[in-house]
Amino acid sequence: DGLVSAYAAPEESDAEATLRPKRLSEFIAQHRVREQLELLLHGAMRRGSPPDHILLSGSPGLGKTTLAMIVSAELGVGLRLTSGPAIERSGDLAAILTSLSHGDVLFIDEIHRMARPAEELLYSAMEDFRVDVVVGKGPGATAIPLDVEPFTLVGATTRAGLLTGPMRDRFGFVGHLDFYEPAELEVLLHRSARILGVQVTPEGATEIAGRSRGTPRIANRLLRRVRDFAEVRADGVVDATVAKAALRVYDVDDLGLDRLDRAVLVALVDSFGGGPVGLSTLAVAVGEQPDTVEEVCEPFLVRAGLLARTPRGRVATAGAWRHLGRKPPATVSS
Ligand code: ATP
Repeated sequence: DGLVSAYAAPEESDAEATLRPKRLSEFIAQHRVREQLELLLHGAMRRGSPPDHILLSGSPGLGKTTLAMIVSAELGVGLRLTSGPAIERSGDLAAILTSLSHGDVLFIDEIHRMARPAEELLYSAMEDFRVDVVVGKGPGATAIPLDVEPFTLVGATTRAGLLTGPMRDRFGFVGHLDFYEPAELEVLLHRSARILGVQVTPEGATEIAGRSRGTPRIANRLLRRVRDFAEVRADGVVDATVAKAALRVYDVDDLGLDRLDRAVLVALVDSFGGGPVGLSTLAVAVGEQPDTVEEVCEPFLVRAGLLARTPRGRVATAGAWRHLGRKPPATVSS
C-alpha cells in the first residue's frame, strides 16, 4: 500500500535523488513557472545580486524541492534544506540564518507549518537581512541584532491559503505547480527510464503515466515497481503488457486507484446506493479511520470526478458507477 501516495516514503530518498533533474532545462513541463523562474534567475545573475524570495505552491510530489535545488544550482550558490515543522524555536531558525553564506538558497518545506515566533523572525531576515535574537526572559530580556548575509528564501507549501498575509507579501515571486498531463509524465518516464537503464516502450510509458495521478513522484515509483516485474517475470522490457500485469499485481487500476480507493467507491455504490452517506459511516464500511478516507483517498477521487462531497454527505458520480462496471441509476446525472 502507499504505492500511489503522493508523499515520499522515507526509504525512497536515494531513489528520488537519482532521478531529480539538476538544471532548469531538464525540468519537465510546468512551462509557465519554468519560464518565469528563468527570467528571475537570469535577471538576478546579470545584476550580481540574489533574486527575490520565491514561494512555490502545489500538491506533494510535483517538484517543489527539485526546483529549489535547481535554483541553487543555476545560481551556483549553496543550499540549506529544512522544513516548517523542524523549526520548533525561533533560535533554531536564527542559527540557520546566521550561518548562511552570501547568496545562499534557504529552502523551507511546508513553510505554512512554521511556529509563529520563528515566522516573525523570518520576516525581518527576509526584508532587512537582520534578525533580533532575544536573550534572557522577563524584564531582563534583551534583543541582540544580528546581521544575516543576503540570501534567497525558497518556501514550499501544499496549502498556499494557510500562509499568513505578511508571510506571502514578502515573496517577490510566487509560482504554482499544477498536476502533470499524462503526455508530460510519459516524457518524464522516458527520462527516468534512461537514467535507470531500463527499456520502456512508448505504450509501456503510456500505461504507467495514465495511472500516476498527474504526479511525477508516483510515476517514478510505479516505474521502479514495474521494472522489478519486468526483470523478474519478463525479459526486462517494459511494454504495455508487462506494465499492465505488474500494476495488477500491485493493485493499481487503470485510473491509478489502489485497493482502498476502490473499496471506498464499492462501499458507496453497493452498500449505500451511491450516497449521500456521511464520512464516518463510509469509513466504518471500509474499516478505516475517517481521517484516512478524507485525507488519503478523497482528494484524488474528487479530482478524478468519481466522488462528490455534498452538504448531505459523499456521493458517487456517474463516472464512479461506470468505473466499477455498474450502470449508473437514472437519478445520477452524468
Ligand atoms: P513534497 O511536497 O512531498 O516535498 P515536492 O513537490 O517537493 O514534494 P519533489 O521531491 O521535488 O516533490 O519531486 C518528487 C520526485 O519527482 C523527484 O524524484 C523528482 O525528481 C521528480 N520530479 C518532480 N518534478 C519533476 C519534473 N518536472 N521533471 C522531472 N522530474 C520531476
